[in-house]
Amino acid sequence: MEIANVIVDVPAKQTDRAFDYLIPAEWSGTIQPGMRVIVPFGPRKIQGFVTSLKTQSEFEKLREIIEPMDLEPVLNKELLELGDWLTEHTLCFKIFAFQVMLPAALKAKYEKKVKLAQGVEASVLSEPLQILFENNLMIDWEDALKQGMVPLLLKEAAKGTLEVIYIVKEKVRKKQRKFIRPLVSLEELKVEVERFPAKAEKQKQVLSYFTDHFEPVELRQLVAEVKTTSATVKALVEKKLLIEYDMEVYRDPFEHRTFKRTKPLPLTNSQQTAIGPILNAIETNRHEVFLLYGVTGSGKTEIYLQSIQEVIERGQEAIVLVPEISLTPQMVNRFKGRFGDLVAVLHSGLSAGEKYDEWRKIQRKEVKVAVGARSAIFAPFENLGILIIDEEHETSYKQEEMPRYHARDVAIERAKTYSCPVVLGSATPSLESFARAQKKVYHLLSLPSRMNNQALPAVEIIDMREELRDGNRSMFSRKLLDMLKDRLEKQQQSVLFLNKRGHSSFVMCRDCGYVMNCPNCDISLTYHRVNEQMKCHYCGYESHVPHQCPECSSDYIRYFGTGTQKVEDELGKILPEARVIRMDVDTTGRKGSHERLLTDFQNGKADILLGTQMIAKGLDFPNITLVGVLSADTMLHLPDFRASEKTFQLLTQVSGRAGRHQLPGEVIIQTYSPEHYSVELAGTQDYDLFYQREMMIRKIRHYPPFYYLSLITVSHEQLMTVVAATEKIVNYVRSQVSKDAVVLGPAASPIPRINNRYRYQCLIKYKREPNMTKMLKTILDQYQKDTKSGLLVSIDVNPFILM
Ligand code: ADP
Ligand code: ZN
Ligand code: ZN
Repeated sequence: MEIANVIVDVPAKQTDRAFDYLIPAEWSGTIQPGMRVIVPFGPRKIQGFVTSLKTQSEFEKLREIIEPMDLEPVLNKELLELGDWLTEHTLCFKIFAFQVMLPAALKAKYEKKVKLAQGVEASVLSEPLQILFENNLMIDWEDALKQGMVPLLLKEAAKGTLEVIYIVKEKVRKKQRKFIRPLVSLEELKVEVERFPAKAEKQKQVLSYFTDHFEPVELRQLVAEVKTTSATVKALVEKKLLIEYDMEVYRDPFEHRTFKRTKPLPLTNSQQTAIGPILNAIETNRHEVFLLYGVTGSGKTEIYLQSIQEVIERGQEAIVLVPEISLTPQMVNRFKGRFGDLVAVLHSGLSAGEKYDEWRKIQRKEVKVAVGARSAIFAPFENLGILIIDEEHETSYKQEEMPRYHARDVAIERAKTYSCPVVLGSATPSLESFARAQKKVYHLLSLPSRMNNQALPAVEIIDMREELRDGNRSMFSRKLLDMLKDRLEKQQQSVLFLNKRGHSSFVMCRDCGYVMNCPNCDISLTYHRVNEQMKCHYCGYESHVPHQCPECSSDYIRYFGTGTQKVEDELGKILPEARVIRMDVDTTGRKGSHERLLTDFQNGKADILLGTQMIAKGLDFPNITLVGVLSADTMLHLPDFRASEKTFQLLTQVSGRAGRHQLPGEVIIQTYSPEHYSVELAGTQDYDLFYQREMMIRKIRHYPPFYYLSLITVSHEQLMTVVAATEKIVNYVRSQVSKDAVVLGPAASPIPRINNRYRYQCLIKYKREPNMTKMLKTILDQYQKDTKSGLLVSIDVNPFILM
């Protein structure tokens, strides 16, 4: 007896374990761990993953697997084990851990259909339904809904005359194309051409094509070249002279692009010093985590490329993660340029089908390098030699839905399995990583200067409070305006950067720059327009927006925020002659528009590029000599303990956009908080000092990297229920943790209601709590089992967004 352990596609507590299914004789020997199968589950047919096989079960009556969905496993042994690890570390349902590793195209979709019950004739149905179900037709549930037929159907279903079935459908199929090739030898073909009657001229032409080109050709191409029809070709197939067959072809998103091949550059001394230990780890098959710390333009990417080169030469494979936002053509070019067809690229700009095809190339070992955003960390390679995460500090490496994993943790876990190095690169490492490097958990490698020792751009910080005092109420300081005019005259390009995150959400005095903070948490209060309230999302503190500034008594106190559209309008007024390209979510929605706007800018079709954070990265154009940050403050006052870190990183990154080439660059940062250390130190580009200051604050405030965080969020339609449940959880947590842990809450979540569900949270800060995972699991179990209460409890271990 062959039995499969199957994880079914029903994300719930009760089904979060393997179920035993019998493998029917006809599939015996073909079903393997890592394959997807269709299994009966209650009245439904659903998808499941086979995790292992066995010969005995403790259960008597087992149901049979209906059919396999794959011809070969989609998850190898390592990935199946990684799924277990993900489940354990992120406290997610196992089915989510498996699904996240696969391209979207392989996520099953279920279609609900209605059909006649076994042995029932359409004639017994009520009048309007008869015609629909004649000839055993099936009806789409969705269609029935649209046509208002569902009540009728339900009545019949209650009588047992109709039944609902579920059909598992894959979203995307492999792309197949029809190919034609001769079925007989060239000699025979030539004889046939001669023998063909004159009136079969058309068929004769097709055959002659093959006597000239004796090789397979795509049907489409054949029809076009011979100017014939597929019917003519079919006739020859029927005569058994030609044969038609399907072949899988890849959708190639880079089909019409050529990549200029590049060669490894001779490394500078500091690059050589940095790459040495990485190459050593590769050569000796040793797992180690490196933090490659170097300003933008210091030659990190060249180090990635040459490390990968070594890995490929040793017959191994490489994964490179870059943030989605910087997965620009420029970045892709560098990898394609060096390794050509050995590179698969995975990013969200691709269609589901294209992504699937790139994934297939990896699975079939046709490529050696996968470059992509977060989920590329699951690329199904089986002989990894290096994993690289560029811009490792980026928060987009953390997934905010189940499984709530961080790509850095997954990279390290996989690298341990393959005994290979991980390289984390950044100009502004996350505090967590830099602290680990200081403690020698990671191996720190530094690139101290830019290539060609080019100076970093000069940064000037403009105090917007002074502008206001001098009567300038516009969003452009006089200095920035002068410099924009200057660049226009010189025909050089400028980039204007506006941070939209945190749009209109904090309250500030425009005379003195004072920001309303929570008295308990040292975090800015969030403004709520509805009742002019300000709230703290960590502890629940609330207050009215004051009429006067508590600091300077000015009554010019406003909530803060400006949109790109508004900036563009104002630019049009003050610099009507400037040509502006605006890049934000509105102008880059369509596929390819991001790239097109950048190309336009590169080709000098505009003087000013205006945009949100999406322009902060990857931009590397020789003619940019001015970067302006319109308001450094929007990010600074987000209700987030990482606000200072993010501000520093962003300002440093943006500044790095200017003067990357021959022309020297200048940077203007406008702010209402010029004395804030993250603004000040971004001005002098002093990461080390920033690190020290920020670490001190994190220590005092009990935040990472000194403390771990876990966030429990509870939601329910009834406010009272959610508050009571959260309170209960908070009390339970308090009773379980040591006195060193800090338990905050219950407090309303920063987004207090989503889809009519109220949300409350409990935040735990802790250093060493050996029982933490067990305790969190107990909480989850408790609430996930009790589905009737309607309470939803979710847990984020090491959260990045405290919402
Ligand atoms: P980063 O990834 O740190 O921003 P890059 O690797 O992109 O730095 O290097 C910055 C620039 O310097 C690029 O244009 C790159 O081609 C060039 N470069 C890097 N290494 C070398 C080298 N060893 N010799 C010459 N030019 C180099
Ligand atoms: Zn004030
Ligand atoms: Zn607070």
